[in-house]
Amino acid sequence: MRGVVEFAAGAGVTLGGLAVFTKAALHPESQIFGRTLIAGINPDEMALTYDDGPNDAATMELLELLERYGAKATFFMIGRFVRMRPEIVRAVHAAGHVVGNHTMTHPWLTNKPADLIRTELKACNEALEDTLGCAIRYFRPPHGARRPVVLRAARELGLVPVQWNVMGFDWEPIGADKIYEHIDGGLARSRKRGQGANILLHDGFDKTMGTDRTDTLIATERLLERFQRDGARAVTVEAWG
Ligand SMILES: [Zn+2]
Repeated sequence: MRGVVEFAAGAGVTLGGLAVFTKAALHPESQIFGRTLIAGINPDEMALTYDDGPNDAATMELLELLERYGAKATFFMIGRFVRMRPEIVRAVHAAGHVVGNHTMTHPWLTNKPADLIRTELKACNEALEDTLGCAIRYFRPPHGARRPVVLRAARELGLVPVQWNVMGFDWEPIGADKIYEHIDGGLARSRKRGQGANILLHDGFDKTMGTDRTDTLIATERLLERFQRDGARAVTVEAWG
């Protein structure tokens, strides 16, 4: 009987450990698997970051909007969409925004073998570098999921892993007001902690090209107005490392 109890206790510890591991692998601000870039210590610095593009239904319009407010942003792009719409990628880069790697096909990296992770990162880097003719410096793992092997693969390619600390939840169909409200709450929290804000939004959608992102654009415009009013600085992740 004793053996069974010990076994059960052991299994409990193992399962508990796994739960902690999974939580840490997914929590955007966890640092236990190695350092990732989130934000600086100036609460007046705001990085708007857009994932899952390029998207012909939103990215060019977003560029116009950012231009109108003189703001720079960071775009984490999916390699297969980069291959489909290289002209949009070049427009983003030419406008002075930062373009980063978001893998080739946007898989969950929590349960993938090391060679597949390397292939995903490398293929996206190649797509971006072929398109832009310059080296890529930043990487954001799809869904924020990472393990030591993911961070190692990124570093092997000279990529700085980037997470976030404010979310718009704009991958859900919640409307512009709710997106803005989520970000508003996140900005208050990051300010309280004495951090800049690294704001996660989406100009694309990982499953398909052409997804409508009107709500994200509306929320972005409200944020840009607010930054202007408050004297906040819209920065790219380059401001932090
Ligand atoms: Zn993504």
